[in-house]
Amino acid sequence: MKELIDNQRWFFNTHTTKDIRFRLQQLRTLKRALKANEQLLYDAIYADFKKSEFDTYATELALVYHDIDDAVKNLHKWSRKKKVKTNLVNFPAKSYVIPQPLGVALVIGAWNYPYQLSLAPVVAAMAAGCTIVLKPSEIPSGTSATMKKVISEHFSEEYFAVVEGGVPETTELLKQKFDKIFFTGSTFVGKIIYKAAAEHLTPVTLELGGKSPAFVTEDCNLKMAVKRLVWGKFLNGGQTCISPDYILVHRSIEQRFLELTKAEIEKEHYSVENGNYVQIINDRNVERLQKMIDPEKVYHGGEVDEEERIISPTVMHNVTFGDAVMQEEIFGPIMPVIAYDSLDEAVNKVIDLPKPLSCYVFTNSKKAKNKVLNEILFGGGGVNENVVHIANPNLPFGGVGTSGMGSYHGEDGFRAFSHYKSIIEKTTLFELPLKYYPHTPRKLWWIKQFFKF
Ligand code: NAD
Repeated sequence: MKELIDNQRWFFNTHTTKDIRFRLQQLRTLKRALKANEQLLYDAIYADFKKSEFDTYATELALVYHDIDDAVKNLHKWSRKKKVKTNLVNFPAKSYVIPQPLGVALVIGAWNYPYQLSLAPVVAAMAAGCTIVLKPSEIPSGTSATMKKVISEHFSEEYFAVVEGGVPETTELLKQKFDKIFFTGSTFVGKIIYKAAAEHLTPVTLELGGKSPAFVTEDCNLKMAVKRLVWGKFLNGGQTCISPDYILVHRSIEQRFLELTKAEIEKEHYSVENGNYVQIINDRNVERLQKMIDPEKVYHGGEVDEEERIISPTVMHNVTFGDAVMQEEIFGPIMPVIAYDSLDEAVNKVIDLPKPLSCYVFTNSKKAKNKVLNEILFGGGGVNENVVHIANPNLPFGGVGTSGMGSYHGEDGFRAFSHYKSIIEKTTLFELPLKYYPHTPRKLWWIKQFFKF
């Protein structure tokens, strides 16, 4: 691994990656490589957890292609030096900021959207001009092996390499000095990454998880709210970092919410055969999720097929914050519904919990919307919608506190892998003598005029 990183550092220091033409070429190569191997990518993810072609395209590859096109279109603009004003005390001079690639970047991916979460940060790193070591999640082993195959066939290792493996390999990688680490995964492992990065003072972006609430107020468009929440919750079998983890519903509409939710789930006919449902990623997670389902509180669903690793879309009611399902991020197809009487109290409860990656509010009340948006600190989210904010590259995507630090997508991704160098450029035609000795009272008077203090 040391040799790989040394080679990448050598290549970075040739300054090849700083050339915009090189970066554009690599972005286009990546798109071409993925397009040419789409069927291979579909087959691998289906073998890993039975994700359909439709879902793989719509929730993974389309987003990566979109990111590539966005970067190709805007790269000149993003890479340009940006002029800023020069203040009076520095007059006469030009001031500007130059974005520069940080260097050798390590991207560590999570398993739930194995292509998107590995390759979207790679696109950002390529756009910025870094060299890249990608460590995809080892859990969907087929997607990891396929990415390695496709990437190694199209890129030289000194520029972009895939290292496969789990904890031992990642631990070994983390001992090396990188210039940037971009991690997507759990809060628990995020702390391990942050500590390892601190050893080399390597900047990090941490895209982590947590429990993301959705508020449903009494005056919302309930049918629409239910339709969207059922889609957001059960997409990818609930294994989505920004899926609504639990639903806070005003007590006056709780019963209606439950009935409509059950009807919507039935209408959707969730199944692997229909291509709109996936397996739970592994046995460990089936077991973990099973423990969260309190049979006494199941309103709908609750069936677990251990052999097939399928948990039916499950809705739980009469849930309290003390229940097992509320103790950790669910990351599976279980929707706990908690009734609230006062939005103030519900919001205050969420404020007391770790900061969510996402938060959603379904309401027609401006007051309720503003309350949720202004009082709770969370990564990102939606009003009368869930999950889809991730698909707008103009919105920086990232968490806050235990749900992460830093953000990406669009220009924010470019920024995550860049350093912005501040430069002041002076004329050599003349020099103001103020800063030089002797420091006379007259010079001090002038300096005070410049600073205006
Ligand atoms: P994870 O933290 O278990 O694994 C993520 C990566 O870290 C994998 O590549 C894995 O090999 C590596 N890893 C695991 N243990 C490690 C260790 N001890 N030392 C070094 N590396 C280690 O996460 P996961 O199970 O793949 O994903 C689920 C979590 O990720 C959830 O919490 C979810 O919310 C979060 N997530 C966040 C986002 C986001 O964009 N914010 C996206 C997807 C998932």
